[in-house]
Amino acid sequence: MARLRAELGTGHVLTDPDLRAGYETDWTGRFTGRALAVARPGDRDEVAAVLRACAEAGVAVVPQGGNTGLVGGGVPRGGEVVLSTTRLTGLGEVDRVSGQVTAGAGVPLARLGAHARAAGLDFGVDIAARDSATVGGMVATNAGGLRVVRWGPMRDQVVGAEAVLADGRVVGSLVGLEKDSTGYDLTGALVGSEGTLAVVTAVRLRLVPAVAHRATAVLGLASTADAVAAIGVLRGPLLSAVEVFYDDGVRLVRAHRGLTGPFRADCPVYLLVEFAGDHDPTEDLAAAVSGLPAVVDTALATDEAGRRGLWAYREGHTEAISAHGVPVKLDVAVSPARAAEFETAVRAAVSAAAPSARLVLFGHLAEGNFHVNVLDEADGHAVSDAVLTTVARFGGSISAEHGVGVAKAPWLHLTRTPAERDLYAAIKAAWDPAGVLNPGVLIPR
Ligand SMILES: Cc1cc2nc3c(=O)[nH]c(=O)nc-3n(C[C@H](O)[C@H](O)[C@H](O)COP(=O)(O)OP(=O)(O)OC[C@H]3O[C@@H](n4cnc5c(N)ncnc54)[C@H](O)[C@@H]3O)c2cc1C
Repeated sequence: MARLRAELGTGHVLTDPDLRAGYETDWTGRFTGRALAVARPGDRDEVAAVLRACAEAGVAVVPQGGNTGLVGGGVPRGGEVVLSTTRLTGLGEVDRVSGQVTAGAGVPLARLGAHARAAGLDFGVDIAARDSATVGGMVATNAGGLRVVRWGPMRDQVVGAEAVLADGRVVGSLVGLEKDSTGYDLTGALVGSEGTLAVVTAVRLRLVPAVAHRATAVLGLASTADAVAAIGVLRGPLLSAVEVFYDDGVRLVRAHRGLTGPFRADCPVYLLVEFAGDHDPTEDLAAAVSGLPAVVDTALATDEAGRRGLWAYREGHTEAISAHGVPVKLDVAVSPARAAEFETAVRAAVSAAAPSARLVLFGHLAEGNFHVNVLDEADGHAVSDAVLTTVARFGGSISAEHGVGVAKAPWLHLTRTPAERDLYAAIKAAWDPAGVLNPGVLIPR
């Protein structure tokens, strides 16, 4: 503690329980632990100093950005130092020639997006936690979100990264070379590494063209199979979001936000579709939707307020679920072509494992990505086991975009072979031989 205080100044080493509290429990309230201290370095060299001090003292470190992660990877399990990146907020000038920008790891997504738009470009990834989620956390989890169908996940936006190893050495580059085939992709290894390999301090990011016009529709459908079939028709250069949610989720959101729509009568399945382009895509969207065979009802919005109103039914889910209680949350993906079959299978698996629980599904259907939320269920292990085993049976992913964290580490074996897990262990040992960084996350203890 004395060394950390000497390096950062007393005000940036938090040991008082009241000051630590906000860093010790995750967004869901499901994961919590006591930290030895919270260290808040202000630049890369201070990050290196914290890591060296912790490594030499044999104290584990939990990197933390905006603490919006949903798998328990950014909060302490007990006795670690939490390294908060929220003071690493440098944001470089947008380079219009390369179409790139450099952002400190602690820059919140909303600030990055506004910065890019002010320069006539945009950032390709968007998630509902945009006001708090940080660039570093999004790299560490390979965040996906609402526009993956158009621009891909974080992995596709990262051109370079600067990171500090557990022993304090600095690796990586922020030059932003679009072409560099010099062997192993060390930046790529950091994407999705969940704070287990190094602390990311800054990132060089690709930007995308700004889109001037958007139109949004919510379709009421009878089944997930109809929703999946609709994607095949809607896919094209204007498609920028395809989100699925269900009757029970809409009822929770309505109650939580005091809403009444989106339709007069309830529908079993809702599909939110957004078209975006450099001309007004309203007519394209209306024509595409009117050509779909199985639509029961439609709401279409073109102005900002109307679009926000429709998005509220989808984006309100996470908040409304958490307001109801602490859920067991699982974020999984299967091939989109098998999404309807999977939806039936996962509902059956949850009701067998937890007959009195309440299941709320929603997700990014174009990627076959379902967020599985189980409420009113104490035995998280049995439910997780049922859901993740079902995913594995479909050849899917136990972690589509939130990461594995501590929540799903015991199930890594379901979708990674013994040879692949040996490689994971070898990669971890090569970057962090003493096991200082985020022990228990991603790779089970
Ligand atoms: C309402 C809501 C909606 C969400 N929607 C989506 C969504 O649509 N798509 C999606 O992908 N996610 C979503 N999330 C999850 C979450 O926002 C993302 O996982 C996000 O990437 C986490 O960023 P963070 O800065 O909060 O990271 P944290 O929660 O602080 O940390 C997450 C992980 O990254 C590690 N980490 C953080 N910073 C660094 C760093 N600088 N270097 C190394 N490791 C680091 C941590 O150790 C931890 O393992 C949502 C969350 C909420 C609450």
